[in-house]
Amino acid sequence: MKYYILFGPPGAGKGTHAGAVAQKYNLKHISTGELLRAEIAAGTELGRQAKTLIDAGSLVPDSVVEGMIESAFDTIKGVDGFLLDGFPRNLAQARDLDAILEKRGESVTGVVSLMIEDETIRKRIAHRAAIEGRADDASEATINNRIQTYHAQTEPLIAFYKAAGKYHEADVNGWDIETNRARVLAVMEQIG
Ligand code: AMP
Repeated sequence: MKYYILFGPPGAGKGTHAGAVAQKYNLKHISTGELLRAEIAAGTELGRQAKTLIDAGSLVPDSVVEGMIESAFDTIKGVDGFLLDGFPRNLAQARDLDAILEKRGESVTGVVSLMIEDETIRKRIAHRAAIEGRADDASEATINNRIQTYHAQTEPLIAFYKAAGKYHEADVNGWDIETNRARVLAVMEQIG
């Protein structure tokens, strides 16, 4: 099985490109953010607890998202691998992912990192807020906290995956979705 990580700050376009990548390589796209939003929509206890943190732009506990990931690995069949979107989001999650995969005799195949500047992030999120109506896209304070959380907790994963020889970048600063998608797919080809 292949285990790809689609990496990047909020608003980089992970969700926008994941579908095409997953389809081309017969991967199951797993977005921890989407799974959490589904829990909120279903009104579960987990969703209720997660909502407060998500609305503040903070991360939910590692154990919650890791449980979701493990259960997806256990139950989803008939694919050649997984495309992880929004996970891992800090070093503890990255190390735990390695341990989860090692137990299964597997490892991370490669990381596709969507490179985008902070100013573009803000514009993209403002654009998405108008289309998708996500609560955590609507407040300036929440967006600031998500960008800050990305730099403080998620960005260190770049060095982690570089050291593992698994890190690859795609420049997605431009606004042309097709160009960006072609760059993402080119990186997938490079990883193999
Ligand atoms: P996303 O859809 O990936 O932008 O995620 C939306 C929100 O869900 C994030 O701002 C976090 O509050 C939460 N979330 C998603 N993935 C994770 C994760 N791997 N670890 C912790 N919190 C997460």
